[in-house]
Amino acid sequence: MIDTKKRIVVLLGPPGAGKGTQAAYIKERFHIPHISTGEILRDNIDKGTPLGIEANKFMHKGDLVPDDLVFDMLKDRVQQNDCAHGALLDGFPRNDDQAEMFFNMEYVSTNAKVSAILIDIPDEEVIKRLSNRRYCPSCKSIYNLIHKVPKKKVGNAFICDNCGTELIIRDDDKVETIKNRLKVFHNTAGPLIDYFNKKNVLYKVSGMTSLEDVFKQIVKILE
Ligand SMILES: [Zn+2]
Repeated sequence: MIDTKKRIVVLLGPPGAGKGTQAAYIKERFHIPHISTGEILRDNIDKGTPLGIEANKFMHKGDLVPDDLVFDMLKDRVQQNDCAHGALLDGFPRNDDQAEMFFNMEYVSTNAKVSAILIDIPDEEVIKRLSNRRYCPSCKSIYNLIHKVPKKKVGNAFICDNCGTELIIRDDDKVETIKNRLKVFHNTAGPLIDYFNKKNVLYKVSGMTSLEDVFKQIVKILE
């Protein structure tokens, strides 16, 4: 048995908060696997496990996979050796109902320290960051008109540095879509954040600084 507590990390934050980058940093620094519900779902479906077959039925109809099914897959996943010292969870728990299931898991309730880290960014900043993204439909390069500006512009159109294709704004990065995603985020994450707060495991970091600085704040919490 290990005598140090498992590190269980839940990353929270609106779209554009840089969760993906921080997840990669955390994984490397603390040697814990990054477990996303999307991935374990695909994995179970690809391997044709009983849970995967069951989940596929819902997805086939265009329905959301029910919480308890996702939860069963997660329970399987954390049994694997690489989770012995902890795990970084991505996409679970998603709401306060799932949070209760999460805290009831033996993996979480025994010998573990849970840290729910909220990367805090005002809505206006999210809109500013995402709406300035530009995308190359041909080589898939991503630019940002604030900090990764394409060199060439023809008329109103920016041109890909890489391959010379005219850049586009993806639907996900259109202001109306961003506002909708923010609304969804606040509706679902609000109660979840309250839940973590009540359990005394919520930590807020400011997302208004550089990626490196956000990570420094996270390291202080996790060390
Ligand atoms: Zn390109």
